[in-house]
Amino acid sequence: MIEAYRRTGRLDGACLCGVVRIRVDGGYVAAVGVCHCSMCQRWNGMIYGTFDAEADAVTVEGEVARYPATPFSERAFCAGCGSHLWMRNTDGDAANYEFPPGLFPAARDFPLISEIYVDRAPAYAALAGGHRRATRAEYEAKNPHLEGDMP
Ligand SMILES: [Zn+2]
Ligand SMILES: [Zn+2]
Repeated sequence: MIEAYRRTGRLDGACLCGVVRIRVDGGYVAAVGVCHCSMCQRWNGMIYGTFDAEADAVTVEGEVARYPATPFSERAFCAGCGSHLWMRNTDGDAANYEFPPGLFPAARDFPLISEIYVDRAPAYAALAGGHRRATRAEYEAKNPHLEGDMP
């Protein structure tokens, strides 16, 4: 399903203070997936969603802080304004960046295509639509994760 949303092209993004600038020039997925795991809820404070961009398409300028949220992933944010910049697996070669669409004005038209940890979604984060959904158990059966999510 994600294949239908693959694009090649240019997207420009920036954090709230404008110090961190992100350019995608290459392959990306023009669609958003939401995660309701407890780490994403805590990190973002509300609904957390991202789109994927290929590592070799991404250029980043500005001071970026990184938090190693799990042994296999990092969460990056602007050291000045705190805007969340990406999530990325760190245990493989050149993993995709997972960018919050709000950094990129052109991403405002991207549709929501998937939602994971739906059984953990808070009442205020119910998302309507016919997109693909997976529970925690369904997601963790196929993907690396922290045992039992996080406290
Ligand atoms: Zn900033
Ligand atoms: Zn998550």
